[in-house]
Amino acid sequence: FSFDLDALKRDLDGIELEDNPALVKQKSRDFFWYSPVLKAQLDDVTGDLVATPKDEAEVIRILAAAYRHEVPVTPRGAGTGNYGQAMPLSRGLVLNLAAMNKVKAILPGRVVAEPGVIMAELDRQTRAHSGQELRLHPSTANTATIGGFIAGGSGGVGSIRWGGLRDLGNVLRLRVVTMEAEPRVLELTGWELHKVMHAYGTNGIITEVEMPLTAAYDWVDILVGFDDYMAAVRYADLLGNSDGLLLKEIATVAAPAPETYFLRHQKFLKKGQSVAILMVAPQSMDAFLALTAREKGEVVFRSDTAGDLKGIPPNFELAWNHTTLRGLRIDPAITYLQTMYPVPGHVAKIERMTTLLGDEVPGHLEFVRFDGKITPMGLPMVRYTTEARLEEIIRLHEENGCPVFNPHRYTLEEGGMKQTDAVQLAFKHEADPKGLLNPGKMIAFEDPGFDFSTQKTYLFPGLKAAS
Ligand code: FAD
Repeated sequence: FSFDLDALKRDLDGIELEDNPALVKQKSRDFFWYSPVLKAQLDDVTGDLVATPKDEAEVIRILAAAYRHEVPVTPRGAGTGNYGQAMPLSRGLVLNLAAMNKVKAILPGRVVAEPGVIMAELDRQTRAHSGQELRLHPSTANTATIGGFIAGGSGGVGSIRWGGLRDLGNVLRLRVVTMEAEPRVLELTGWELHKVMHAYGTNGIITEVEMPLTAAYDWVDILVGFDDYMAAVRYADLLGNSDGLLLKEIATVAAPAPETYFLRHQKFLKKGQSVAILMVAPQSMDAFLALTAREKGEVVFRSDTAGDLKGIPPNFELAWNHTTLRGLRIDPAITYLQTMYPVPGHVAKIERMTTLLGDEVPGHLEFVRFDGKITPMGLPMVRYTTEARLEEIIRLHEENGCPVFNPHRYTLEEGGMKQTDAVQLAFKHEADPKGLLNPGKMIAFEDPGFDFSTQKTYLFPGLKAAS
């Protein structure tokens, strides 16, 4: 793409713009550096300009002007995505949605909001209004936006009960603006939502969301210690499948990661113990404790009895990709994978991978409801040595029946199902005919002939041209 930035700026008069290169670069990054592979590929990536619209009308003005001048536009919520999702590979304009952060309506079982609202703030408002909260949120709820979660995330805290974002009913409605000469505003519901959900903003800008709400409880954070990691895994699986217990989070992390990486909780943790990280509804507590005692789990931390919690992060900030973050802070050579252990036989698969890879790949599981079945998804840490070894670890998982969603790739397909998503592709042709939205992220659009079976990494030519 070559474009006249000054002409674009003139057309955006009155809209908040930033072109200071250092500040633009800051807003052109996300948590891509979790991956040593992406760190090497994307470290120089930057946009030319950040625009911060205050409402949908300004989004429409920005998109129409960018279309006219053929300037790439990469949307951004809070930039907490992990795979360079929000990074402008072909330079251009970063569309910062953070100022569109109003909660518009709170109703029984649903909330309507602008995309830039931080999820913890959304929960604060719905809780105060009527004792309700989002069904699920990523562990970055305190920093990430609802629009970024829908466009880039998959699931998180609450997924043990409600499944993932992809599950019908977990997003109710999205308003989306297209990238055309005269941008259209579309309202998507039902199956149509899949056109833009987890599409990295490549085929439309989300300007309003309607999400389902559930009852908000005073969730109790609990850590349960086990001397043997597989005992922790079996316990977590049993908990997840105990239909009468209400939990919002079930994760397991293998020793020695908890005692080494969970610094604020160190005083509660026993040396050599693996832990289950849990959020339990208060009304389930007696039943939960009875089950835990029978399974010989040792409750080492309870937020409702621990006393002074100053400086102690919530349990969900030990889980999901916060586990990796805590590891990275202590040991910068840590990276991670995203794996799945399909049921049935999931526990045996986990045991096999644990035996095979040992402490080179410290175990971390997140238990979620997947197609109605409680399923462990893995976010194992990896003590990184070389890219070749990382590829081998991925291959070992796949050979043992554990699919990998590769977090060391910046494209939708390679990080996901390794195939074209026909629905998202068709919508991109319709909603972004010039291919200006977040270029380089959807292989099927950039290179329709790309052969996924070769296992070759896709290299976006625009990335080279832009650096
Ligand atoms: P961004 O990173 O800014 O954007 C994400 C993607 O959405 C980008 O492709 C961007 O272009 C696009 N986008 C943003 N806003 C819009 C919009 N309005 N319209 C169209 N496209 C848009 N993810 C999970 O799913 N579950 C987790 O539990 C989880 N835990 C994490 C923990 C840590 C420590 C970190 C660093 C990341 C984690 N993530 C997790 C990934 C990420 O935090 C979430 O996906 C988060 O919801 C992204 O929100 P954001 O506002 O930062 O989005």
